[in-house]
Amino acid sequence: MLKKLFTKKMSYKFNEPKSTACIVCCHVLEQSSSILYVTHDDDDGMWQFLCGESNHNEETARIVSLEQVVEIDSSINDLFEMPCGVGAERDEMNSKWKPFKL
Ligand SMILES: [Zn+2]
Repeated sequence: MLKKLFTKKMSYKFNEPKSTACIVCCHVLEQSSSILYVTHDDDDGMWQFLCGESNHNEETARIVSLEQVVEIDSSINDLFEMPCGVGAERDEMNSKWKPFKL
C-alpha cells in the first residue's frame, strides 16, 4: 500500500541527448520569465530558449543542458520535432507555438 509520492517522471521527448548544451536567457534560468521564444539553429543545431524580451545579448545568455530546460518548463517538449532552421514563439506560457523560418 505504499504510494510513491515523489516519483513523478519528467517527460523528455527530444531526440537529442539530455546533456545537449543549449542557450537560455538568465530570465528563463531564474524563472522570472517563461519561455516564449525558441530557435533551432540551422548551422550548428543549437537550441535557444528565450523569454521573448528583445534586449538579449551575450551577457544575458546562459549555457545549460536540454534536460535542465525541460525541467524548467516541460511544455517545450511540444517542440521536439521542430527541425533546424525553424523557430517558434508564443504569446504566453499556455498559448500555442507559432513556428517561423529563421
Ligand atoms: Zn530573457
